[in-house]
Amino acid sequence: MYEHKKTTKAEKSVFYVEKMKKLLKKHFGHDTFRPFQEEIITHVLKKKDTFVLMPTGGGKSLCYQLPALKLAGLTLVISPLISLMKDQVDALKMSGIAAEFINSSLPQSDISRIQKDIQKGKIRILYIAPERLALHSFKGYLDTLDVSLIAIDEAHCISEWGHDFRPDYRNLKFFKEQYPDTPMIALTATATPVVQNDIIKELSLHSPKRCVASFNRENLTFRILRKKHAFDKLLGLLEKHKNESVIVYCFSRRETEEIADNLNAEGYKALPYHAGLDSTIRKSNQEQFITDEAQIMVATIAFGMGIDKPDVRMVVHYTFPKNLEGYYQEVGRAGRDGLPSECVLLYSYGDKRKHDFFLDKIQDVKERENKSKQLDNVIAYSENRSCRRKYILEYFGETYPPESSISKGKKGNESCGACDSCLRPRETFDATIITQKILSCVLRTGSRFGKNYIVAVLKGSRDEQVLRNRHDSLSVYGIVNDHSKDELKEIITSLLQESVLISDKGKYPTLSVAPKGITFLKQKETLHLPKIHEDLIDAKNTGKRETLEYNTGLFEKLRTVRKQLADKRGVPPFVIFSDVTLQALAYYLPQNKENFIKIEGVGEQKLKEFGELFIATITTYAKKNTVPSHDIPDKNRRKTSSAKRKIHANALKYHQTKEMVSRKMPLKKIAKEHGVKESTIINHLDRLLDAEEKLDLGYLTPSKESIKTIAHAFEHCGEEMLRPVFEYLGEQYSYEEIKLVRVILKANME
Ligand code: ADP
Ligand code: MG
Ligand code: ZN
Repeated sequence: MYEHKKTTKAEKSVFYVEKMKKLLKKHFGHDTFRPFQEEIITHVLKKKDTFVLMPTGGGKSLCYQLPALKLAGLTLVISPLISLMKDQVDALKMSGIAAEFINSSLPQSDISRIQKDIQKGKIRILYIAPERLALHSFKGYLDTLDVSLIAIDEAHCISEWGHDFRPDYRNLKFFKEQYPDTPMIALTATATPVVQNDIIKELSLHSPKRCVASFNRENLTFRILRKKHAFDKLLGLLEKHKNESVIVYCFSRRETEEIADNLNAEGYKALPYHAGLDSTIRKSNQEQFITDEAQIMVATIAFGMGIDKPDVRMVVHYTFPKNLEGYYQEVGRAGRDGLPSECVLLYSYGDKRKHDFFLDKIQDVKERENKSKQLDNVIAYSENRSCRRKYILEYFGETYPPESSISKGKKGNESCGACDSCLRPRETFDATIITQKILSCVLRTGSRFGKNYIVAVLKGSRDEQVLRNRHDSLSVYGIVNDHSKDELKEIITSLLQESVLISDKGKYPTLSVAPKGITFLKQKETLHLPKIHEDLIDAKNTGKRETLEYNTGLFEKLRTVRKQLADKRGVPPFVIFSDVTLQALAYYLPQNKENFIKIEGVGEQKLKEFGELFIATITTYAKKNTVPSHDIPDKNRRKTSSAKRKIHANALKYHQTKEMVSRKMPLKKIAKEHGVKESTIINHLDRLLDAEEKLDLGYLTPSKESIKTIAHAFEHCGEEMLRPVFEYLGEQYSYEEIKLVRVILKANME
């Protein structure tokens, strides 16, 4: 009986999901939801408060834009940046969604017209800046409206603990006082747990659902290059990104202008951006970047907050940043559209001086120490040789690789496949002799010196301090001639990472030999260290995402068409179609409307407005050139087809599992037959279901009580990740049990 009830409920939910997907395609042109979007939207539509922490480019806007289409009244969006509002509203209008903004950049006549339209119920979404709420007249006007949802974007701006506090955001407290029953959604891409709680408290969110997405950005590749011949390296990098948007972050205003000049001399269109520029120039430079008039923005960190450009393909840090929080936000501006993009940091320890200059000026001791520690973290990140992604995600308190992938049997393979450490072949060299030399130098000089000093002694430097200390008389003095100074430094870094050496913390960290190093010397062990490689500039493999082998000639043609359309309408090109869409067009070559709308990013309005022109361009191009076209996969089957491919590769194993299940063999036994863990078998079942195989899993069903409890937990926490469910259930159930229930629920839905 229970089974029966479950099925009807599941059917209902399938029906609901389909409906939401239809809306998503119709209005926004997207085929599938990004992680968490669907469950956030469902929650919002239940008129409950929601807190969303999702990385830049995660797709936060949709979490209130889609509900806005379903709710009876107005959706009010608070956004801190006037420049962003216009782009967002333009994009919505382009998709046929009635949206407007009201801020100080508009003449009063426009404001009056918009206010009247809203009262007539013509507008679905209204963007305002927080300062508007300080106006008495506006509050009075609000009172006359039927507001269904209030969305607070960049919600961290309300917290004084955050790094971007804006006093105007305090006005937002008014909402819950005045409209306690109107649901609110707060969204941000940056908030420590303290800031999260502060946001919830300051906005008085009523027992909100917290959605915290992973900060892993799979489409980004992280690289650190040694900052030597930096400008040549930059040119090398740009070579790979012809015609694509790039941001180069610099340390100083002067540096931005210099580098922009030098790039222009090399034939690139690069513009500087910093707070010292005249505001009209700043605005114009930003505009040119956003509208693809200029390819490269050379900027200080003043640039970025107001930028939602989805197709930035590379972010370069010409000097290392002052903290990892800022760094991750800055690189987060790459690849918002999900296409492979690169983040490159040019690192030289010597650049620490630039930072120290400012650190030394800080009066407050505590603050100075804090900032200096943050800087050390950046240095540690840059000098570290293991997976960059793992390092940075763990710095933000996330486990990487995530549990779900560990349970998929990837444990032990910690390679992310998209950072310089993981892409680089793991060759080693015999470092026994050089390590002996380094360790004895550290010991002979009394374990009182830092890396640079040890290198100076080993290389036989005439440095004044070395001579004063009489270290030129040591047997290790000048003993190294088969490694350069830089190489020696790298080897020392490796020895620190291998815990052969240790370094104390402090302004001038000194090296000493760790117990492991002592054993190494005593036992006359051999030691292998990772080879020191030249920087990987031209590694092809950027980003882990699958991309289409689209026709680049046609892609450029389509870009030109897009640019012309955008200019005519006075909007940025990405508002017309994203690069994702253009690439799909240049791959599938749809030549009629039925096929055109099947492309990701094409909704009904855009089909109507732009379909004909793009179809004509594609048809003409295809006639003139021989271009292979491809069948457009059916959207909702896409997952299926990739699942089918996976199944294909392991056909026999899957077939056996299926067969054993049909014989109602217990999981344990199936696992034993395959010689794998039970959880691997559950994964098989999952994939089989994805590939639309019919499975009768009824016999595997655990007790009704536990299935009910776990199903409830999934409803509460969402189905994407296991850990929240595991924790929600007070760790009462194992990951296997939880996963099994998820598979059974899925089987009942199919
Ligand atoms: P955030 O505010 O979290 O930084 P945005 O809402 O600006 O992210 O979305 C980033 C990009 O992702 C936009 O270009 C948007 O069109 C795209 N996007 C959002 N949701 C989806 C989806 N479900 N499918 C495809 N693209 C999406
Ligand atoms: Mg946003
Ligand atoms: Zn990695």
